[in-house]
Amino acid sequence: MQEDRKPAVLLIYTGGTIGMIENPETGALESFNFEHLMNHVPELKRFNCHIATYQFTPPIDSSDMEPSLWAKLVHIINDNYERFDGFVILHGTDTMAYTASALSFMLENLSKPVVLTGSQLPIGALRTDGKENLITAIEIAAAKHPDGSPVVPEVTIFFENCLLRGNRTTKSNAEGFKAFNTFNYPVLAHAGIHINYAYDHILKPDPSRPLKPHFLFDTNVIILSLFPGIQEAIIDSVLHVPGLKAIVMRTFGSGNAPQKEWLVKKLKEATDRGLVIVNISQCLSGSVEMGRYETGIHLLEAGVISGYDSTVESAVTKLMFLLGHGLSPEEVRKQMNRCFAGEFTESIR
Ligand code: ASP
Repeated sequence: MQEDRKPAVLLIYTGGTIGMIENPETGALESFNFEHLMNHVPELKRFNCHIATYQFTPPIDSSDMEPSLWAKLVHIINDNYERFDGFVILHGTDTMAYTASALSFMLENLSKPVVLTGSQLPIGALRTDGKENLITAIEIAAAKHPDGSPVVPEVTIFFENCLLRGNRTTKSNAEGFKAFNTFNYPVLAHAGIHINYAYDHILKPDPSRPLKPHFLFDTNVIILSLFPGIQEAIIDSVLHVPGLKAIVMRTFGSGNAPQKEWLVKKLKEATDRGLVIVNISQCLSGSVEMGRYETGIHLLEAGVISGYDSTVESAVTKLMFLLGHGLSPEEVRKQMNRCFAGEFTESIR
């Protein structure tokens, strides 16, 4: 690839608020057609890069996102990988963190930018945050070092002036423009007058390794949140859901659970049967440390594994990804302990 040519970015529109335009006559929100994108965001014409577009038909609200659509995104990126320097995915905010996490596992050896963005207000609205998000996301997807290598070769979310590692991200605000946070990882770039990249925090993949796309998922998983007073019969029925293979168990504080004998016994029985149970804290910031309190040690003894400081979104998509590849429970437990794309802090393992 020549270094002096204009970078090329593929803009993939899946749906979500960003793609809506207020009909000036009826006031209703309508999905826009990509052909009209340039008219609504004329700033795109001033970019020093080629922008091609791909539109999901029909566009979807991200609450309808599915693993099959993640696979579709991976197909689009894989089919166009050599032709483009970077990819921007326009996506509803509600499940963007799940999609970003899933893509980070599915795009093995990714060495180009994949930036997800969206907005809280439609791109046609007067006070929209969509324009800034879109324009800066494209700039980041096209950004290169002087040697021609991409500045951010990983799956990220750009939102309200912050570039975040996708598989560390959680949607934390349904109202404000700053909808996303990475509670356990630093921001990868701040966009002000300049885009200031935190180079040390950005992944540095080996570009000589070819992209290895993955498409398979097994959705026999569940997220179980503990609370004081949770009943034995409820835990029992969850642990015996037919076909269930893995649980993301949301525990208290640094990975603690009630010390009730029946709970530990049932969890142990389940892990012995081959159920993979991953401990993720209900706290948004900090890590699971099962050896710290008696209430966590019981979980370790029951065969529960640590999710460290992973997000729920990352843990659940990683489990679906590993199970989808037909791994045994033992192998899934082993691979959950391996950091694939910066999804947990390796030094706390
Ligand atoms: N419900 C919308 C979605 O996630 C919200 C948004 O786009 O922000 O698709």
